[in-house]
Amino acid sequence: MATSLDITVYRPASHSALAEQDLIAAHAVIAEIDRMMSLYRPDSELVLLNAKAGQGPVSVSAPMFEVLQAANSFARRSGGAFDVTVTPLVELWGFYRNDRVVVPPQDAIEEARRRVGMDRLTIDAAARAVALARETAIDLGAIAKGYAVDRAIAELKARDVPAALVDLGGNIGVLGARPDGNPWKIGLQDPRKNGLIGSVSFNAGAVATSGDYDRYFEHDGQRYSHIIDPRTGWPVSGVAATTVIAPTAMAADALSTAGFVLGPEAGLALIASIPGAAGLVVGTDGRVAVQGTGGVTFELR
Ligand code: ADP
Ligand code: MG
Repeated sequence: MATSLDITVYRPASHSALAEQDLIAAHAVIAEIDRMMSLYRPDSELVLLNAKAGQGPVSVSAPMFEVLQAANSFARRSGGAFDVTVTPLVELWGFYRNDRVVVPPQDAIEEARRRVGMDRLTIDAAARAVALARETAIDLGAIAKGYAVDRAIAELKARDVPAALVDLGGNIGVLGARPDGNPWKIGLQDPRKNGLIGSVSFNAGAVATSGDYDRYFEHDGQRYSHIIDPRTGWPVSGVAATTVIAPTAMAADALSTAGFVLGPEAGLALIASIPGAAGLVVGTDGRVAVQGTGGVTFELR
């Protein structure tokens, strides 16, 4: 998944050997999801699925099916702002290679956009199979990290770990209550300079952040970031970061990307419609808009 992984397990000091086994088990779960859902591994289930676009239904693994069904639901709820078939546009804009320095011609954008859309992904729940239309491809970059965090947390829970935190590239899930009795607290990175714009505290669930500051290029003084609005075919402008707190890390991951595309008004309205979700959108002008929910506290500087 081309990102960092931090796992923290809390056990009584006398159980430190057990805690080390917990770390290994949680890491293995995430590595397995990566082997299935990465676009950068030539033999991942996702790459093999994409290779069968236009060839009819393909049976998929239970995890792949679960993620694709969730992706379908987030696509619907976001009015198409979240769309895992965005691959041809991400490719055209050069974000898989990270070497593009110019804006593609508008007719190329239109051509790629015709290959994007959730109507090009057919899901057959009874057969646990999916079919991709010709020249369409799936990118799970905005949802699979969250799913992997949920699976790692479930593994730790099954091992009777009392408290833990899993951070996969800014997709953070927690298990149990912090041993010191305080809520979990995550710093909110300033999208434009080193340091924090504040923090968010919560008792359970997950947090994810999408930003325009890690993967982007600049051309003629304009910043083009790796999150693309599938409705226009252009990288999102005007939003610098979104952070979402949700009951699951998969929901937080997908909603942070959806909120990034939708912007403060529609993005926070979407978050407000999801039970247990809260979030914040930082504009490129530095303005911060917040949507709260019970049990979540934002502190802004
Ligand atoms: P990150 O991968 O940096 O944690 P996100 O979770 O927001 O950030 O996912 C962004 C990635 O998702 C992009 O790099 C791209 O691969 C893919 N993507 C881009 N635009 C969209 C979109 N509108 N809907 C779904 N996935 C997208
Ligand atoms: Mg995301």
